[in-house]
Amino acid sequence: MNLFLDKYSRTINYLRISITDRCNLRCIYCMPSEGVKTFDHKEILTYEEITRIVRIAVDLGVKRIRITGGEPLIRKDIVYLVSLISQIEGVEDLSLTTNGLLLKKYAEQLAKAGLKRVNISLDSLDPIKYKEITRGGDIKEVMDGIKEAENCLLLPIKINMVPVRGVNDQEIENFAKLTFEKPYQVRFIEFMPFGAKDFWSLDKYIPTEEIIKRITSIAPLIPVDFERAGPADYFCFEKAKGLIGFISPLSKHFCHFCNRLRLTADGKVRPCLFSETEIDLKASLRQGVSDEEISRLLRLSVELKPSEHFLKDGKRVDYLKPISKIGG
Ligand code: SAM
Ligand code: SF4
Repeated sequence: MNLFLDKYSRTINYLRISITDRCNLRCIYCMPSEGVKTFDHKEILTYEEITRIVRIAVDLGVKRIRITGGEPLIRKDIVYLVSLISQIEGVEDLSLTTNGLLLKKYAEQLAKAGLKRVNISLDSLDPIKYKEITRGGDIKEVMDGIKEAENCLLLPIKINMVPVRGVNDQEIENFAKLTFEKPYQVRFIEFMPFGAKDFWSLDKYIPTEEIIKRITSIAPLIPVDFERAGPADYFCFEKAKGLIGFISPLSKHFCHFCNRLRLTADGKVRPCLFSETEIDLKASLRQGVSDEEISRLLRLSVELKPSEHFLKDGKRVDYLKPISKIGG
């Protein structure tokens, strides 16, 4: 077994790949209304280039792959990419993060191509509020997509919600209550200080501690002992079918558990979501370098992983690329 260790003895076994920086929504906390300037088609990695990088990363010890964006389901031939990656020996887990709008159309084909699971972003259960937050999204399409993903056994269904004070925080309790009836993992992600310019303010950020307080007004939360595979801390209500997770990049950062690298849509490998450090794999790939050289660059990016990020003071970081370009 390969062990891809960084200099803080963290095992790196997870690669998140942004396959496009384009999106069919404009969530108010993620993108400005006019969108962001997107890459030209020739600037983004081809599926063959992505697959080659995955194969080399797997040789180094990566076992889990997540496809994200932007909105990954709007990239042409996404099912083909899933089938290419799922056939790579050593890929033990292949998942995808989506806003869910196109899941009804693709869930079955994706499952057949080897996708194991999906995370669906959903920030309101109210159709009007959902439309407002996403600037035009139709919640019915997402709900149909979730049902289809369940039918196709893309399980467990994980629902990601970003509570933003004054926007959707009054729905925190309703999201948590979903777990009484549904076997979903409902995960609350702290609003992070980047994304749509001018939208972030510290008073809109809700720390996990406050979210937990609101949820425990419904019923006590019981900690769930999970072998930790990601950044979420999990709990459940007694007799509930689902779980409630908390991802707290600001209030309780999980850098000491960090197991990941990110590959941006334009082919840069990024050791940390919150640092500008990137290594350009695309340039090397397109110069025709060997697998050994790509492997060296991946190892270098692991060496460059910082011990932790420095966003804890909640200051907005305008120098960071939008999350849709890095891959959220
Ligand atoms: N379009 C897909 C989706 O929405 O699931 C995948 C990409 S999206 C950038 C990935 C995740 O990043 C989503 O769950 C979204 O809620 C989250 N996200 C975007 N901007 C964020 C911010 N400023 N703070 C916290 N999470 C954010
Ligand atoms: Fe698009 Fe996802 Fe960002 Fe919403 S959160 S604008 S769906 S990339």
